[in-house]
Amino acid sequence: MSLAQIPPLPPECLEVLNHVWDYLDGQLNDETTERLRAHIAECRQCFEYKTFQENFCDAVHSLAERPGASPGLRARVLDSLRHEGFAG
Ligand SMILES: [Zn+2]
Repeated sequence: MSLAQIPPLPPECLEVLNHVWDYLDGQLNDETTERLRAHIAECRQCFEYKTFQENFCDAVHSLAERPGASPGLRARVLDSLRHEGFAG
């Protein structure tokens, strides 16, 4: 199966894919935030994507906030997150 056989995502889903970090960061304007929130609420695919990114973000933040977390440890944790399915 080649990439060309994957059906294109609806524009609403593409918007979530492209802006999920800004959305989680509260960087989007009210209108866009509301549009993404409404779509995520009704689209299982986007909901799961957003939840993935949110958990990943939380994990990275909690690691970053821990004093003494070495770059090596961070890389190992990120690696294991990836193994658990958190594709970066
Ligand atoms: Zn969607």
